[in-house]
Amino acid sequence: LFITFEGVEGAGKTTALSYIHNQLTEAGYQVIRTREPGGIEIAEKIRDVILNPEHTAMEARTEALLYAAARRQHLVERVLPALEEGKIVLCDRFIDSSLAYQGYARGLGIDEVYEMNRFAIGDAMPDLTILFRIDPVEGLKRIAANKDREQNRLDLEKIDFHQKVFDAYEQLIDRFPNRIQPIDASQPVEAVQNECLNLIKNQLNI
Ligand code: C5P
Ligand code: MG
Repeated sequence: LFITFEGVEGAGKTTALSYIHNQLTEAGYQVIRTREPGGIEIAEKIRDVILNPEHTAMEARTEALLYAAARRQHLVERVLPALEEGKIVLCDRFIDSSLAYQGYARGLGIDEVYEMNRFAIGDAMPDLTILFRIDPVEGLKRIAANKDREQNRLDLEKIDFHQKVFDAYEQLIDRFPNRIQPIDASQPVEAVQNECLNLIKNQLNI
């Protein structure tokens, strides 16, 4: 079972993912947790190239291709082997991040970025994608309040960029209604975690 976590910055994806990982592991499931871009050495290196704030010359298509390259390597090296062993894979971001960030917010086109990513992943689409819905301004406030967190390129992007990312995710719900399940991520963390767990239990038929 391949489950991905999506949404704007500061939505609580990573926190909920840790909780779900613990719950499923305690319940006796074989589960791995991973993230994009990254999750394995080659892809973490690509991540460092993409997210390096000194790389201001990084052009939108270059960026999209690097995300897809990191995705390919991570998929074949980590995700697919785990799925073949019957494990549950919990992944922090996947193709929908590229559709939202590169396809829509950066203006490359959702269809174009989708085609390019299908080349990278083949038919390895997630079984379930949990979309954490929160006003991007609220998400950014949460991050600003969290001093431990790596700040990435957040400071470089304007709020209307994050609003576009949010809008793109809304479009993706209509596009992939069977796969993408939205949750209200503005709720207290326990409520968000419970909604996630319920969606996953439903998927597992338990
Ligand atoms: O999920 P995480 O916070 O680790 O994401 C790292 C950064 O990569 C974020 O700032 C996000 O905006 C960016 N990103 C992106 N395009 C993607 C995936 C992530 O711009 N496809
Ligand atoms: Mg996160």
